[in-house]
Amino acid sequence: MTDAHVHLRDWNQSHKETVLHGMLTGALAGFDVFFDMPNTNPPVTDRKTAEKRLELGISAEKELGKLGHDVHYHLYLGITPCAGQIAEMVKAYKDLFPRVCGLKMFASQSTGNMGIIGKERQLEIYRSLTELGYTGVLAVHCEKEEFFRPDETRHSDRRPSESEEASVRDQIENAENTGFRGTLHIAHISTKGALDAVREARRCGLVKITCGATPHHILLNRDSETDLIKMNPPLRPESDRLAVWNALFDGTVDWVESDHAPHTMDEKRGGASGLPGFEGMLLTIKALRDAGMPESRLNELFCTNALKAFGINEKSSPVPQVNDAMIDAARRAYPFSAWK
Ligand SMILES: [Zn+2]
Repeated sequence: MTDAHVHLRDWNQSHKETVLHGMLTGALAGFDVFFDMPNTNPPVTDRKTAEKRLELGISAEKELGKLGHDVHYHLYLGITPCAGQIAEMVKAYKDLFPRVCGLKMFASQSTGNMGIIGKERQLEIYRSLTELGYTGVLAVHCEKEEFFRPDETRHSDRRPSESEEASVRDQIENAENTGFRGTLHIAHISTKGALDAVREARRCGLVKITCGATPHHILLNRDSETDLIKMNPPLRPESDRLAVWNALFDGTVDWVESDHAPHTMDEKRGGASGLPGFEGMLLTIKALRDAGMPESRLNELFCTNALKAFGINEKSSPVPQVNDAMIDAARRAYPFSAWK
């Protein structure tokens, strides 16, 4: 299976996890293709760091190959507001594809402080990418900070549903207005409003657009929110969760992505956002299968659709029968389970 959205840490965050450990755990859960996000420490926002990160991924592939796991590592490059940096990243993408699978933009601050805040500043990114002839995937973390309510006590109230819909609409407008020729990917979509915005954009047909949903936004609503079960975007009201669930069946959601993002227990207690993700992927497969989803659709959501959208010609093993031993193996690999 393919996981098109993981944060494998390592480097200055090796105490959270290493690339090797993350891919091993993913492999035990049945995943063989991983797309790693660039908000690492140091971040993957220059060519040299990207090449170092690829070396690390490739050496983890080799180590896991010795254990009989045929896994494949791919990397997103991070976008900053600097025009020269964007040109460097587009060139690196062209040179290093498919190892480099696409670009990532954070439209709000999250782990790593890579946020590009404001619709106007984001417009400049689309303009640059279009001028540079970028035709790959631009994955965007969509939350609009103007809609944040920092005085609220609950995390999910501080970053409400409206902030996601507004940011998704900004991205679509910016992409349409600049004639963006790549694929706009809405990462971890979590609200009915954002799903409707994606549907409208597809009807309009001016921009290629995909979206991914995470296990936590598919299976949990904000009643489950605690210090440990906390992430960005946050858990949503049940009406949003249900909209995401239904969008897996009606074809609006293109793939399920774990947003695997481990921390230590102490960091979680200190407020860090993010959860380990492979266990949730298995629980999601089980829930969707139990609800009658056909195997062909499961294979699209967990294996083929992401590879197709990125234009990566790689084989991904099919969705396995999920048994308790697999879920336990994924669960045991981390200091806490989000799902208990
Ligand atoms: Zn993420």
